Amino acid sequence: MEQNLVKFVREIYQTQDFIPLHAPTFNGNERAYVCDTIDSSFVSSVGEFVERFEKQMQIFTGSAKTIATVNGTAALHTALYAAGVRAGDLVITQALTFVATSNVLYHMGAEPVFIDVSPVSMGLCPKAMSSWLESEAELLDNQCVHKASQKTIRAVVPVHTFGHPVELDELLTICTKWNLVMIEDAAESLGSLYKGKHTGTLAPLAAVSFNGNKIITTGGGGMVLCQDTKLAARIKHITTTAKVAHPYEFFHDEAGFNYRLPNLNAALGCAQMEKLPEFLTKKRALAMAYKTFLMGSHFHFFSEPGYAQSNYWLNAIVCPDQQSREQLLTHTNKAGVMTRPIWKLMHRLPMFANALRGDLNQSEWFEARVVNIPSSPVTFK
Ligand SMILES: *Cc1c(COP(=O)(O)O)cnc(C)c1O
Repeated sequence: MEQNLVKFVREIYQTQDFIPLHAPTFNGNERAYVCDTIDSSFVSSVGEFVERFEKQMQIFTGSAKTIATVNGTAALHTALYAAGVRAGDLVITQALTFVATSNVLYHMGAEPVFIDVSPVSMGLCPKAMSSWLESEAELLDNQCVHKASQKTIRAVVPVHTFGHPVELDELLTICTKWNLVMIEDAAESLGSLYKGKHTGTLAPLAAVSFNGNKIITTGGGGMVLCQDTKLAARIKHITTTAKVAHPYEFFHDEAGFNYRLPNLNAALGCAQMEKLPEFLTKKRALAMAYKTFLMGSHFHFFSEPGYAQSNYWLNAIVCPDQQSREQLLTHTNKAGVMTRPIWKLMHRLPMFANALRGDLNQSEWFEARVVNIPSSPVTFK
């Protein structure tokens, strides 16, 4: 199986060179737009590309408002702050995810609560979240409180893992019942739809990432999606040092962040957005090719949930056991075809070892078996 996979991937990408997990594609207006910012000298916080990029993203996702930021982590930080998360609060998220959300909470003085993921989406599990809340939390004056510590549980951050949308309706119902704000971590799900709606637009707030390995890239970059126009204006304000507009005076009306995306990066983003539909078509075709290839083997291709359309950001294989996972990783990487195991669960990292957590059976099951395989968009016949 390992040998056949290496051969299959090499045929798809038509190369004997090293094949990365996800490389960016620049074959549109990237060079022209970036040169434009250099020629005009507007490479930094002033320039037309930031607004244009925000507008493109607003139209593409159907989000009420969009605010560009320096990276996805900054978008998450801003969204959590705007949602009212403060020091001492608890925030529910996944144990099976990238470390960004937990890091942001750590630096805000808030704490993550790690809840299990669903077998359907690899993202936050509504059943697991509901049963943890029923046993560990109570509503006091319509405030969700963790009974043992008396800390406020303020928000919930589900992740659309590898682009596969979580069960949003069920999660949103639980959020309403417990008075929790949802912030979708849509870092990996640009182009993924939940029941026909773009991920990141069902919750009041969401964060997208444009890191180099994501579905489109701005070098580094991110975006807050916000469904409330007034809140969006405040978000724009706090990501730009909370400076009150004035021809020359410096007055800042709250402690803001310097999280604005530079014009140079936004230029790259504008060109990438023009290519996004093409990337999505190619990625879906690639996913279907992997799925067909793996059919009948002991390795299972992880497919989008029935209610969703995934962008298949990173294709994922579920190996039959941990030993076959090691074999697959060793063989493919030795052969110059990059593969990578799914993240280690957050509570295994030293800084989150003592965090609150629910039962994590499903997360552990995926942790032992899931491997990502090369997923860059590619043209194949
Ligand atoms: C990439 C990613 C982030 C962070 O985005 P950056 O742009 O790298 O800061 C956050 N959450 C998830 C799930 C991600 O994959």
